[in-house]
Amino acid sequence: MTTLKDLTRRSLRYLASLAALGLLALSALTPTTTEAAAPQVKTQAPGFYRMMLGEFEIAVLSDGTAPRQVDKIMSQPDQVRRALTDDHEALLVEISINTFLINTGRLILVDTGAGELFGPHSGGRLVANLRAAGYRPDQIDAILLTHIHGDHSGGLSIGGQRVFPNALVYVDRHDPDLWLSKAAEDAAAPERKTTFRQSHATVDPYVSAGKLRPFDGAGDLFPGIRAIPAYGHTPGHTAYMVESQDQRLLLWGDIIHLTEVQFAHPDVSIEYDVDSTAAVTTRKRLLAGRQRRLPGRGRPHFLSRNWPSSCRRRRPRTASASLHRAPIDPL
Ligand SMILES: [Zn+2]
Ligand SMILES: [Zn+2]
Repeated sequence: MTTLKDLTRRSLRYLASLAALGLLALSALTPTTTEAAAPQVKTQAPGFYRMMLGEFEIAVLSDGTAPRQVDKIMSQPDQVRRALTDDHEALLVEISINTFLINTGRLILVDTGAGELFGPHSGGRLVANLRAAGYRPDQIDAILLTHIHGDHSGGLSIGGQRVFPNALVYVDRHDPDLWLSKAAEDAAAPERKTTFRQSHATVDPYVSAGKLRPFDGAGDLFPGIRAIPAYGHTPGHTAYMVESQDQRLLLWGDIIHLTEVQFAHPDVSIEYDVDSTAAVTTRKRLLAGRQRRLPGRGRPHFLSRNWPSSCRRRRPRTASASLHRAPIDPL
């Protein structure tokens, strides 16, 4: 005989089982991180941009970005903070590192990015993007350096081995005369020795192989490619004018570090300048040359090192703390 007490017990068990089912159903509807449909990828599309300049094909190849707290490394920090705030930009800027591949029949690469010098999360994407653009490192015939600094010459070598085994490396003589000089390194302040160490790690393998070709100031290096001295940021700082069929492209690195500030205020300098007074004079000279030719026929294209600005990304604020502990990595 079923008693009231039995019914109550059965009802309670039934309700308990419903509740358990309900909980199971709720948990099935609530996603957890371990049940994501697919893992996060955390990479971008290949970073290159191709264009024609007369008969030459140019590919801008991204080496990635490097975060810098720009108001800490540029003169006139109030000016820098105001300009970035007006543009709704953070002060921790992901600065783009770019290189340029010129296909004239020969393959000529301008700058090489940072290689492994800035660690696994800053720069170092050149070879991947070179391959994505359809080329191999061993196909590069010549490398023109705008100057010797970690983010421009750092990609020459990885682990002490030449990344571009068949390339001759061209650079204004003043730069290897400084950065490969033991006397200059010995005389440098401790916080200024980074570039000397990085230069030996990445340029020396080309010196040993007889592949370094220092040149002296202005001059034609290849048909359609001319070196233009831009001394100041480093003693051998150089821009390259590329010209084909009356179209001209001026390639530079570290003439403008921060477009938001230095186009309007070219007198703002950066602490990595070897000679900041000369660097400011050079910046004004090159910008004045650009303005004389805009607009009009023969107008040169400009590709600054901040291309593509739309691809900037921000890092968490904690990144700036580790930056301040790191040795100076010139940009
Ligand atoms: Zn530099
Ligand atoms: Zn730089």
